[in-house]
Amino acid sequence: MPDSSETDVDLRHTGETDERETTRRRFVQSGAIGLAMLGVWDVSGVADAKTTQRASMNTALHRPVNKHSFSNGLTGLLQRNQVWTNALPDGYFSDVQNSQAPSVTTVCCSDSRVSQEGMFLGALEAGFLFKPSNIGNKAISIVEGERVVDGDFLYGLEKADSENGVVVGHTDCGAITAAYEIATGKQLNESPGIRQELEVLVDIVDEGLKSDRVDTETKDLKVINQLVEYNVHRQIRFLLDSDAVSEERNLYGFVYDFQGAYEGMRGRTYLVNIDGETDQCQLKQQVPNRYKEFVQSILH
Ligand SMILES: [Zn+2]
Repeated sequence: MPDSSETDVDLRHTGETDERETTRRRFVQSGAIGLAMLGVWDVSGVADAKTTQRASMNTALHRPVNKHSFSNGLTGLLQRNQVWTNALPDGYFSDVQNSQAPSVTTVCCSDSRVSQEGMFLGALEAGFLFKPSNIGNKAISIVEGERVVDGDFLYGLEKADSENGVVVGHTDCGAITAAYEIATGKQLNESPGIRQELEVLVDIVDEGLKSDRVDTETKDLKVINQLVEYNVHRQIRFLLDSDAVSEERNLYGFVYDFQGAYEGMRGRTYLVNIDGETDQCQLKQQVPNRYKEFVQSILH
């Protein structure tokens, strides 16, 4: 975990514009939140400025925060929110008190292992990330029998005017696994709501299995991980082909890997698609040198 000064140096290397510089300063100013979230900030220090709140804490959080600091159930939720509000720097909501203009709209899988805010440090800046999630990270919904751009995603991208639209799949996705099982003939006894969520994925998985990009002669998990990436591409393709999505949006596809399927760090988002481009060499040309290892694919 880099400290604020490292973040400062790292971002300065990118040589971004003044607008980005403002964003960078906001990051640095609010970096304390991330530190608290990741357990490297002693909460007694956080609470020093808020003595009253600290006194009201009913557990002894006088050590770095980690999952063992909290109770289960309702009390745990209250404790976690107390730590969150104590950790927020002054002015955290100032720029977005009455409106939002998120730079990025992401759709991620709802899987509890996938940190939609964490992977792009969304929590460091209120208003940075618009973030619908669903099982299988779909940007496609079915409305009255027709495939349309998912309303939650479209709201962030077009109504809230995000410059960037991002689809993030993840390794070992249960929704893709279920779609794979259905596509390969297994009968699943899912409730209607879940069946509807899987319908789009079953079509995509079926198509992926028939394509020459997915190696099906391997373990199921490896097939499923390839299908995860394939699904990201199909979601991006649908967005590109839709009239509902403005041409000026940047569209990016990633796979979040917490298993090492891409043979790198756990929690990394691997870039697999930029505006429909999936060629590794082409993608690598579009990222700074030090991020080229973020461009990976397990598809053929
Ligand atoms: Zn999933």
